[in-house]
Parts: sequence; structure tokens; C-alpha cells
Amino acid sequence: MNLILIGPPGAGKGTQAKFLETKYGLKQLSTGDMLRAEVASGSELGAKAKELMDAGELVPDELIVDMIASRIEADDCKNGVIFDGFPRTVDQAQALDTMLADKGAPLTAVILFEVDEDELVNRLNSRIQQAVDAGNAVRADDNEETLRNRLEVYRNQTAPIIPYYEAEDMLTRIDGMQDIAAVSAQLAQILDKTKAA
Ligand code: AMP
Repeated sequence: MNLILIGPPGAGKGTQAKFLETKYGLKQLSTGDMLRAEVASGSELGAKAKELMDAGELVPDELIVDMIASRIEADDCKNGVIFDGFPRTVDQAQALDTMLADKGAPLTAVILFEVDEDELVNRLNSRIQQAVDAGNAVRADDNEETLRNRLEVYRNQTAPIIPYYEAEDMLTRIDGMQDIAAVSAQLAQILDKTKAA
């Protein structure tokens, strides 16, 4: 099973990807996490990505596509993957279609998490507060100004992949305003039905 989770920042994709990893034995591939690991390691790719990430802009397609292309060949991706935060542009979606076709591993479903922007701002502020209370570092792109830019980038550059996957008849929408357990239950229902079909 190969899944894509689409949604604006803070929609709950990462949380649900963790749930799906456990339930279906899939591997979560979060391009954001992979890039943060590159930044932390001090690699050349990390250095190129950092400034764009801190500003809430997208990292160039070519870097992301190369990163994913080598990662999906690893052994832990054999049972299938959950793409979290990828693709984020139509060009990335097309590159992924080609990659999966070459591998003979088609997409199972694309899930779109729909959440109001006001709710995303509230979630961001409580995430910051939790990190501060726990004495943890706050992510450099976790502030309201950068979130506003990330939302604009999502609307302009990522949302066009919604009609792209609708045209492929792959897209299922989910109400991401529900609590975490309700979203998980709905996801499991969708995927069990898709698997059985
Ligand atoms: P995330 O953790 O998914 O919110 O990603 C954090 C940041 O990493 C984004 O704001 C982008 O700067 C960058 N990034 C993550 N995934 C991608 C992608 N698929 N394409 C371009 N940039 C990405």
C-alpha cells in the first residue's frame, strides 16, 4: 500500500502517518523530517534547504525528488510508504507517478486533510506553548508569520495537486477538524475499504 497525505501545515498528517505506520506496517517518509535531518547533519543539501525552510518557502523540486527517489529504494520501504509532506507541487506529483510506475508500486490512495486556517493558527500557538512549557526548542519555522507564508505557499503551489489527483480518481477528503482518534478511525475505514476493493 502506498499512500499520500496532503494538507496544510498543522493539519495532522504527521500524527496520522505514525498511526498508519503501526496499523499497516508502512514506512512514513516525511520530506520535512528528512530535510531537518540534513540541516542538523550540516550537509550541503541541508545548507541549501535551511534558509528556504526558515522562510516557509519550498525547497527546489529537483532536490526533493532526488532525495525521495533514493529513499524509496531502501529495504524498510518494501511493504509500502506513507508520503507525508510530499508531493508539494504538480511537478513533484508527476515525478512521483513516474517513480512509482518504474518500481511497479502504484499509489493506493491520496488523502486530503481539510482544516480551517484559524484552527491551524490555534494549533501552532498551542504547539509553541507546549514546547516552551517543556523547555524544548521551538522549530525555526514555527511562528505565526512563517505559518501565514506557508499557508500561502500551500494555496498557490500545493493545492493544484488536488485537481491533479482528482483527475486520476485517487483523492479522498477527510475532515481534519475532528479530534485525532476520530480522524484515525475514518482513515482506517477508508483504507480497509480500499484494500478490500
Ligand atoms: P514540513 O515539516 O512538511 O512542514 O516541511 C518543512 C519545510 O520543509 C517546508 O516548509 C519546506 O520548506 C520544506 N519541504 C518539506 N517538504 C517539501 C517538499 N515536498 N517540497 C519542497 N519543500 C519541502
